[in-house]
Amino acid sequence: MNAKPLQPSADFDVQRIRRDFPLLARTVHGKPLVYFDNANTSQKPLQVIEAVDNHYREHNANVARAVHQLGEEATAAYENARDKLATFINAGSREDVVLTSGTTQSMNLVAYSYALPRLKPGDAILTTVMEHHANIVPWQLVAARSGATVKAAPIDQRGELIVEKFFDMLTPEVKLACVTHVSNVLGTVNPVRDIARECRRRGIPLLVDGSQALPHRPVDVQALGCDFYALTGHKMLAPTGTGVLWAKREHLQAMPPFFGGGEMIREVRFDGTTFAEPPHKFEAGTPNIAGFAGVGAAIDYYQSLGFSAIRAWEHELLIYATERLREIPGLRIFGEAAEKEPVISFLIEGAQATDMATLLDLEGVAVRSGHHCAHPLMQFYGVPATLRASLAFYNTREEVDAFVAALLKVRKLLM
Ligand code: PMP
Repeated sequence: MNAKPLQPSADFDVQRIRRDFPLLARTVHGKPLVYFDNANTSQKPLQVIEAVDNHYREHNANVARAVHQLGEEATAAYENARDKLATFINAGSREDVVLTSGTTQSMNLVAYSYALPRLKPGDAILTTVMEHHANIVPWQLVAARSGATVKAAPIDQRGELIVEKFFDMLTPEVKLACVTHVSNVLGTVNPVRDIARECRRRGIPLLVDGSQALPHRPVDVQALGCDFYALTGHKMLAPTGTGVLWAKREHLQAMPPFFGGGEMIREVRFDGTTFAEPPHKFEAGTPNIAGFAGVGAAIDYYQSLGFSAIRAWEHELLIYATERLREIPGLRIFGEAAEKEPVISFLIEGAQATDMATLLDLEGVAVRSGHHCAHPLMQFYGVPATLRASLAFYNTREEVDAFVAALLKVRKLLM
């Protein structure tokens, strides 16, 4: 990990920012909440909460169906979120932004609509050992149906992808490569631009799982040079049930619809139904309209703070938290990549992760324990579970201190 702060963050007023997040002011078991489970889901600022509330109070109607005023307003909020998302990730065109319920749906859309029709026995999908199950299981399901296999590129003990091995494994039978931008367990940032370049040289499409990247860093999907980019709204200040699949136009044009129903058709006839153009071809049924109103507000919120300030503060917190954790005897950190986001997985010798998390909760500290939907990564490290503290820009050094104090107390109880 780069041990130097990115830039001074003196003008980052974290206390002012925290006032935007009402939930951060609550107590848990009589203790001030320390919310360090941001990689699981982020808290929501008032601006997002109010956008959702306002949608239901003032604009609620279905999208793209009604000609009445409310229908137009609801459609405008939903399509406005698409525009904002397109700008946020530099999509090139709003038509290349498919609105989904989250990364999991985005991945499954690629699995069933892009991969399955192309895969044949002997083909392979290449992923990595550090992936979330959402970037493994959909590929296994379509591999099982088509006679293809799923291969996983290795990582090293520091939790970095062994990039040369990944490139070696990009053999001709690989029909799709899938890699996470940022690991949800280790915080590792993968060199996706280099990976995309090597995939392009070999004519292999690349999907990037951006779930854990967008909350922390600006993303330019065109500059990355990937084919597909998936993201989930609820980890980036927005409501649950919102997400995106961005894909290159040629893929979206070629992919058949996955879900059929209303909204995704041009004309339905029993002698042959025709479909809408992308992205609507992939958006059957009534979407999470209020949720996407919240997505628009979440993007505005990120942009009002600016990623350079967010990154500097989060990096400072990561360095501080890592240093403080290293003071604790018997504590082992999993994931020490040169470039990482503020996610720290760890174990304390002699203590079970779940026992620790349960006792930490009694101290008001919310961290996640378990396999983090990354069984193969746990198998790689030979542990059933870890504790994970995942930070956000609204966290503070004082919360890190409270967390470390709670850890020391809990450690004593369990030893
Ligand atoms: N990929 C990664 C790296 C994740 O962290 C998560 C969420 N934990 C997902 C995919 C799945 O996201 P969702 O549950 O929002 O679909």
